[in-house]
Amino acid sequence: MSELKENEKVDIIIIGGGPAGLSAAQYAARAGLSTYMIEEMAPGGQTLIIDDLENYPGFDEPISGFDLSDRFHRQAENFGANIILSSVDAVIRNDDGSFTVKTPSQDYTVPVVIMATGAKRKLIGAPGEKEYQGKGVSYCATCDGPFFRNKKILVVGGGDSACDESLFLSKLTENVVIIHRRDRFRAQKSIADNVEHNDHIETRFMHTLNEIKGDGKKVTHVSLHNVETGEDYDEPFDAVFIFIGANPSTALVPFAGLDDDGYIITDDHMRSTIPGLFAAGDVRNGMFKQIITAASDGAIAAHAAAQYIDELRGQAYV
Ligand code: NAP
Repeated sequence: MSELKENEKVDIIIIGGGPAGLSAAQYAARAGLSTYMIEEMAPGGQTLIIDDLENYPGFDEPISGFDLSDRFHRQAENFGANIILSSVDAVIRNDDGSFTVKTPSQDYTVPVVIMATGAKRKLIGAPGEKEYQGKGVSYCATCDGPFFRNKKILVVGGGDSACDESLFLSKLTENVVIIHRRDRFRAQKSIADNVEHNDHIETRFMHTLNEIKGDGKKVTHVSLHNVETGEDYDEPFDAVFIFIGANPSTALVPFAGLDDDGYIITDDHMRSTIPGLFAAGDVRNGMFKQIITAASDGAIAAHAAAQYIDELRGQAYV
C-alpha cells in the first residue's frame, strides 16, 4: 500500500478497487501516468466473495475470487500503480476542470478521476438472507448457477435481471420457480414472454419471500407468502437467487450525468458527461456486468484517460 509522496504530481485517481479499478490502475500506470487507486475495504471488491470462478478467460481450472483479485492487485503494483486503502469523503469539481479528491488523510488534485465504485445488489431483507449468502443465496446466476445444476432454484424479482437470469438458470435445471410480488412482470415483454413459455420455469405472481431456511450449511427451504390468498407455506429449495435491482454507487459525483436507473452515462471510451471524469464497471451504464467486462472497461477508461491527459498537455499520444 502507498502514500502520496511530497510534491508528487498525480495524474489519475481511480476510486474503487474491484476488477474495473485494478485494471484501470494497471493500464494507467503502464502508460507512464502517476496513478493512485483508492479502495475502502480491500482490493478485489465483490470479486473477493466468489469461491470458485470458472469463467474468467485464461484460467482453465476454477480460481477463487480472492486469488484472482490478488493477481490483479500485484500486477497493478508491479507496473507502478499506488494502491491506497482509504475512504473517499468527496470529489470536488474545480473551476479549471481538475478534481480534488478528499480523503480523511490527504487531498489529491488531479486532471482525471475514474469512478470504479461498482453497484450494490439490493438485499431483500428476509430472515436467512445474510446467513445463507454463498451457501445457496446468490445475486448472480452466471457466477453461481452452475453449482446448482439439476437442483431446485427459486428466483425472486420481476425485472429484466430476474427474467434474464431465470432463463440462464433454466438451461442448468428443469426446476426453476420465479416469484414476483405483482400480477405481471416489469421486464421487457419479449424477455417476460420467454420466461412464461419456458417449460423449465414455473411463474408464480403475487408471491413474496418470507424467510430463507437451512441447516446452517446450506439452504434447504423457503417460506413463501401468497398475496392473493394470504397463505404462508414452506417449500424445499436448494438455492435462492435474488434480483430486485441494484444501487450504483455514484454519491461522490452528483455532477455526473446518470441514466434513469442511476448509472453513470458513458460513451464507448468510458467518458462521462463531465470532461476528465471517466467511469468503468458496474457503476456505469453497461449491459453485461461481469468481471471480464469490468476489467475491459477499466482498460478502456485508462487508455482514454491517458489520451485526455496528453491532449491537455498538448502532446501527441504515443
Ligand atoms: P429493476 O428493473 O429495478 O426490477 C426490479 C424488480 O424487483 C421489479 O420487478 C420489482 O418489483 C422487484 N422488487 C424490487 N424490490 C423488491 C422487493 N423488496 N421485494 C420483491 N420484489 C422487489 O431491476 P433489474 O431487473 O435488476 O434491472 C436493472 C436495470 O438493468 C433495468 O433498467 C433493466 O432494464 C436493465 N437490465 C436489462 C437487461 C436486458 O436488457 N436484457 C437485463 C438486465 C437488466 P416491481 O415490478 O413491483 O417494482
